[in-house]
Amino acid sequence: MSCTYDVVIIGGGPSGLSAALALGRGRKRVLLCDAGPRRNAAAIHMQNFVTRDGTPPDEFRQIARGQLASYANVTIRDTGVSTVSGERNAFSVQLSVGDEVRARRILLATGMVDEMLPIEGFRELWGRSIFQCPYCHGWEIQDKRWGYLVQPENAAHAAPFSLLASGFTTRRLTVFGDLPRDVRAQLHAADIAIVATPVRRLRSHDGQLAAVELTNGTENPCEALFVHPPQHQVALVQSLGLAVEDGYLKVDPMTRETSRRGIYASGDLTTRMQSAIIAAASGMQAAAAINMELSADLMSAM
Ligand SMILES: Cc1cc2nc3c(=O)[nH]c(=O)nc-3n(C[C@H](O)[C@H](O)[C@H](O)COP(=O)(O)OP(=O)(O)OC[C@H]3O[C@@H](n4cnc5c(N)ncnc54)[C@H](O)[C@@H]3O)c2cc1C
Repeated sequence: MSCTYDVVIIGGGPSGLSAALALGRGRKRVLLCDAGPRRNAAAIHMQNFVTRDGTPPDEFRQIARGQLASYANVTIRDTGVSTVSGERNAFSVQLSVGDEVRARRILLATGMVDEMLPIEGFRELWGRSIFQCPYCHGWEIQDKRWGYLVQPENAAHAAPFSLLASGFTTRRLTVFGDLPRDVRAQLHAADIAIVATPVRRLRSHDGQLAAVELTNGTENPCEALFVHPPQHQVALVQSLGLAVEDGYLKVDPMTRETSRRGIYASGDLTTRMQSAIIAAASGMQAAAAINMELSADLMSAM
């Protein structure tokens, strides 16, 4: 065992970086480990983060790391974490690069993994013409032809997102999916087009979506497709056996502690309400709760 940290933060996206800043300012000894690939790896710009609207995601991370460099008590390592064992005040954290460190508290900020749909062209267009969030991408493409590809598990709840997306574009939205009758009626009433025939492939031109091809061979011109593919937790989080709800980690709403004492979580892995600024805010919240707890430990040791 080489080092004992007050907190090991696992994940160096907006959430983990924000937590590191708050804990650094609180004079805690922090190690932040980041394995590299970020959730928005395919995205060219990060939008809708006040003061950072339009910043490339890698630049956002570099600015954060640059600011953290002022805090000598915060160490950043570009390494994955493969296992976490032990208990509150005495966790062992195994780094992928080989060494093991100790930590009093753990903060998981590992994001979520988006699953690529088995549709030809999907993976290549993800983050370029295929999006999840109109707040992140809608403004820049408002005059393009938009589609919303509904996943079967979301069909009963397709109306609210369709209506929301419709408000972001100047064109008529097309919804692709086999929808229940009441949802179809709601979309018709809102002048939203519906295509029930399954999608066979996505045709692109110059690296951008051009059309959605159906299994009956017809093509629907479409330049931006909104989709909510399934997501899963990274292997490390799965291995911890923490309580989840709909696949997202359950946390205490005030402290962000998970079902295991001493392990906290912030950012995308705890919610489907996913955006960089929300992830950053929840990282700060977790950091403040952890710092409060560490201070309470000192009191009880007196
Ligand atoms: C294509 C796309 C575009 C988007 N565009 C926007 C946008 O414009 N604006 C916006 O607000 N939001 C956008 N989002 C959402 C935004 O990217 C996320 O909400 C945000 O990145 C979540 O931050 P996070 O810190 O929770 O997780 P992430 O940013 O995903 O960071 C998690 C980090 O943890 C690391 N990690 C995972 N496992 C381990 C491990 N075992 N050990 C060490 N490190 C590990 C990963 O490598 C990653 O770096 C977009 C998402 C996608 C998919």
